[in-house]
Parts: sequence; structure tokens; C-alpha cells
Amino acid sequence: MTGTPAPFTADDYTARMRRAARAAGDAGLDGVLIAPGPDLVWLTGYRPPETERLTLLVLRPGEDPALVVPALEAPDAAKAAPMLALRDWTDGTDPYETASDLLGRADRTGRTGGRFGVSDNAWAMHLLGLQNRLPDTAYVALTDALPMLRAVKDAAELQRLAAAGAAADAAYEEIREVRFAGRRENEVAADLAGLLRQFGHSQVDFTIVASGPNGANPHHEAGDRVIERGDMVVLDFGGLKHGYGSDTSRTVHVGEPDAEERRVHDVVRAAQEEGFRAVRPGAACQDVDRAARAVIVEAGYGEYFIHRTGHGIGVTTHEPPYMVEGEERPLVPGMCFSVEPGIYLPGRFGVRIEDIVTVTEDGGRRLNTTEREMAIVE
Ligand code: ZN
Ligand code: ZN
Ligand code: ZN
Repeated sequence: MTGTPAPFTADDYTARMRRAARAAGDAGLDGVLIAPGPDLVWLTGYRPPETERLTLLVLRPGEDPALVVPALEAPDAAKAAPMLALRDWTDGTDPYETASDLLGRADRTGRTGGRFGVSDNAWAMHLLGLQNRLPDTAYVALTDALPMLRAVKDAAELQRLAAAGAAADAAYEEIREVRFAGRRENEVAADLAGLLRQFGHSQVDFTIVASGPNGANPHHEAGDRVIERGDMVVLDFGGLKHGYGSDTSRTVHVGEPDAEERRVHDVVRAAQEEGFRAVRPGAACQDVDRAARAVIVEAGYGEYFIHRTGHGIGVTTHEPPYMVEGEERPLVPGMCFSVEPGIYLPGRFGVRIEDIVTVTEDGGRRLNTTEREMAIVE
């Protein structure tokens, strides 16, 4: 296991904010507005409480970044993000007025305009408050405006993602040794969460343990069902380590599988392999989905692969780019995303195999390296 990586510096964050402001300008925007959440963490390192009080980072091309912040949180903000100019507001005053100073200059009629990208998770009440205050402004979701803003990871980010992947892999190696038969999904899920923490995760986002027919529901997390001998069990787990995400899936079987279970697992494993092989600079995101899907369609299970092949990962466990039909943007070295095809047979069982992959100069590299053959558990 690697040690704790050096923290990102104010200079690192300033460079990211500058890049974001420039990208906004290039995209024809007057700026971007960032609410508390993953975009703010990535741009500034600041993690304020996500409350009803307005906190908003304003980035405009050619201008210094500014943070609208509740006065009572200003000291924390100054400490966490010393490179930001703060515009604080106190309870009882109008925070949208404070923000409107930053969003554009009034014209002769007193109106302001402009088009801004807004982080996806901004609260509707804040956006409506701004719109009300500045009726001439227009807003577009950041994912639509700058979908690739956080998609290409630098070396320090890749190091963290690799460490998170290695920790998830270590958790998988250990979970294979625990007892499955006769225990509830919840209990195995708790084991998984404990292992992720043991291997350095500060946050566990999900621990899916989907046994037997529950495996046919990709959204099943873990429940009261008692795992039985003969069950396929989809394991899909991840969280954050050193601020960056892990997300991996393996499907195990309790005791010896039957011929069909083996076949379905083989098909998904081949699909995952083909998806991975499609990863190279310049290929379109949708090519990864197509490559994986073709294997499953060819095997006759096309209608049972009911989700996209992958999603990006970084300071969150789900973010752009998406490996999905219709996403024609090219893969770029440094992008990190999942390749996770699955087959879901309603009422029976499901299989999913997932690795995080990063794009290299000439192909792809897996950040999850545990064996993808079906493991037999007890
Ligand atoms: Zn079985
Ligand atoms: Zn997953
Ligand atoms: Zn995933």
C-alpha cells in the first residue's frame, strides 16, 4: 500500500480554477457558478456544509475567483481556501444581491445579463433566487456545458485513484474468504464496508451484495435476504480514499455453479474484456459501450444488459465521462472510468464485472486487478 499522498496546494487549486474559467470562456459562457459539492471540492479543496445558506464560487474568465459565503462560515472558508476572495453575507440580508455583484454589470436600464454554467447539485432555491434577482441571466448545467472539466486526471489524481482501486481490490480478496451461505446480505455488506475502511477508505459510498434473484436488479443494495448455497452474488462496492473514488464489481457463486451460470458469467467477462480493449486515446466513449455490448448481444443476452457500460470517477464515484451510446467525445489520456457490463435475468440472477480503467498514451490500464474469473465462495 502506498503512503498518504501530499495534499493539493493552493497553487494546484488556483490552476484548476483558472482552467475552469478559461474553459467557460471557450464554451461561450460568462462564467461558472459552483455550489458546495464535488465541483467545489475539486476546484478549491473547500468542503462547506451543504445547507440552505448560499455558498457559491464564481469563476469568470479573466477575473479572480470569488466565493459568496455566509459570514458565519467565512473563517472556515478562509482557512480551507486562502486563495479565494470572500464575499460574505449575513443572515437577514439578501445573499443573491451579494452574488449579483459578481455575476455581471448592470446596463443603463439597471439589468444584468450573462450565461453561466451551474454545478449540477446547486439547490433549485438558489438558482431561482439568482434568476429572480437577475432576470436577464441564463443558466446551463455544468455537465452539459463543461462535461470534461474534471474528466482528465493529472498524475497526483491518478495516484490517488490507483490507491483507492488497490484498497478495493484488497477488500475483495478478503471478502472471498468470509462465509456467505446462511448469512444475510446486510451482514456481508457490513463486512465489505469494514474492509474498505480497514484498507484506508475514509468514506464508503456503497456496498452492494445482491444474491440470487436480487442480483437481477442492478440497483439492489443489500437487504435481509439470507444467502443460500447455489446463489450467484453480485458484489459492487466503493467509496473514497484520500479524497478519490473506488468502484469495483465481481460476481461470486456460493458453491459450484451450474452450466448456465457459468455461461452467463463467461459472456460478461468477455464483454468486460472487449470493453477494456476498446479503451485508447481518440476512441469515442460510445465505442467502449459498443464493444462490450456487442459480445452480450452476440451471445443472445442483449435485452438483459440494461445500463450503460461505464461512468467516470474522481472526487466522486459517478461523474462524466459516460461510456454510453451517443457519447461521441473522444477518450483522452488521464481519463478514468468504469467498464462494467452486466446481464440481469429477472427473477433468477445477475452478473456484473467492473474495473476502473484509465486511458494511457496507447491504450488502457486497469486500476482494479483482482481476477475476473468467477470465484467460488462458501
Ligand atoms: Zn447457482
Ligand atoms: Zn460499481
Ligand atoms: Zn460503477
